[in-house]
Amino acid sequence: MSINTILIHGDGKFNEKTAPTLTPIYQTTSFRFKTAEDLEEVFLGQKLGYTYTRINNPTVDAFEKRLALIEKGIGAIATASGMAAVSLAILNIVKHGDEIISGSGIFGGTYSLFNDLKQYGIKTRYAKDNDISSFEEVLTQKTKLIFVETIGNPKLDVPDIKKLSEFAHKNNIPLIVDSTVTTPYLIRPLEHGADIVVHSTSKYINGNGNSIGGIIIDKGRFKWNFDKFPMMKNYEKFGPFTYLAKLRKGIHKDFGVCMAPMNAFMNSLGLETLGLRVERHCSNALKLALSLKNNSKVLEINYLGLEDNPYHQIAKVQFNNNYGALLTIRVGSKEKAFKVINNLKYAANLANIGDTRTLVIHPASTIYADNKESEKVTAGVYEDLIRISVGIEDVEDIINDFEQALDKI
Ligand SMILES: *Cc1c(COP(=O)(O)O)cnc(C)c1O
Repeated sequence: MSINTILIHGDGKFNEKTAPTLTPIYQTTSFRFKTAEDLEEVFLGQKLGYTYTRINNPTVDAFEKRLALIEKGIGAIATASGMAAVSLAILNIVKHGDEIISGSGIFGGTYSLFNDLKQYGIKTRYAKDNDISSFEEVLTQKTKLIFVETIGNPKLDVPDIKKLSEFAHKNNIPLIVDSTVTTPYLIRPLEHGADIVVHSTSKYINGNGNSIGGIIIDKGRFKWNFDKFPMMKNYEKFGPFTYLAKLRKGIHKDFGVCMAPMNAFMNSLGLETLGLRVERHCSNALKLALSLKNNSKVLEINYLGLEDNPYHQIAKVQFNNNYGALLTIRVGSKEKAFKVINNLKYAANLANIGDTRTLVIHPASTIYADNKESEKVTAGVYEDLIRISVGIEDVEDIINDFEQALDKI
C-alpha cells in the first residue's frame, strides 16, 4: 500500500462483530473481566487485553497502530501532548550523569525541557550547526542520544538524517527525530536510519487544531548495549520491543501522560486526510513565499522551497520535492512586525502551527520571551521576525491578506 491508502485503510483488518468504519470512542476508565483468572493473565502479560485507560484503550490503540504502520515502526505509544512524547522518548533511556546532543534550531518547549533536565543531572549540549563535525565536537563518553527536528522551528534548518544516524550508530547511540513539522507524509525518518520518531499530533496529524497529543514510534532496530544503557537490561527479553516495553510498563504508565480516547479518535479522523492537506499546505506555502520574496517590505524571507535557501537541496531530497508549510519573514522592527500581524484579516495570531487556517506569531515576544538573547540568536529568532504557518485556504486570499497588511508599514 502507498501512503494515502495506509492513512485510510491501515492494516485492512476490521471488527467483524459490529463493523464500524472508524474505531469508536471507548470513553471508559476501565475494562471489566469475567473472572479473576482472566484479569490476572492480562496483568501478567500472558494475554492481551485492555485494563485501564491510563495504560491502554482500544481507540488509542487504533491510532497508535495506524501511525506505527505509516512510519514503518514496530509499535507506537501515544501521549497526552507532543511535549510528553519528547520527554518520555528521552527519559526512557537517560539517567543522572548522562548527556544529550541536540540540534540547535529546536522548538522552544523542547529547549525549555532540556533546561529543566539539568536539575536531574542530565546535560544537553547543542551542535552549533547541522554538519556532522558540529555533532562530533560535542560528543563525549556520557552522550546517550542525539535529538534533532526534521525542520527546526522557527530556524527552518534541516539535518541530514541518514548521515546523522550513521554517525550516531558508529558511536552506539540512538537518533531520536521530532518530525512534527514534516509529518510522515514528507519523510519517514525511520526509513532514513533514525531509531525513534516523535510527533506532536496537535499539529498536522490532527490537522484541525482540536486536540493536544503526541506519539512515539520505535523502529525496534537499535541494539541496546546494557553497559551503556543499564536501565534496558530488565527488558532484554522483549527483543526488538525492549524500548517500547520499558516505556509502556515504566514512565508512560507511571507519569500518567496517556492520550485521551476522544483525542485519539479526533487524531485518527485527521490522519485520513493528512496527504491531501499536506500537499495543499506545501503548495500554498511555496506560492506565498514566491509572492513575499517580491514584496519590498519583506527584508528577508526563509522558506526551504526557495532555490537560494541553504537547505533547499537537502530538503528536496529528504522531503520528496516538498518543503513544508512553515516560513518566516523579517520586516525591519518589532513595531512593524506587530503592525503586520495586527492588520492581517484571515491569518490568525496564535501559538500553534499545522492548522487548516493560516497562522502567524511573533516568536521573540511569545514562545521565546523567556529565552536569553544569545539563545534567541542560536534559535534564529529576531525582534522583527514573523513566523507563518500556511493553511489550506485559497492561496490568492492568503497572498492578498499579507499584501494589504504589509502595505500598511
Ligand atoms: C508543538 C511542538 C511540540 C510540542 O507539542 P505539544 O503538542 O504542543 O505539546 C514539539 N515539537 C515540535 C516541533 C512542535 O512543533
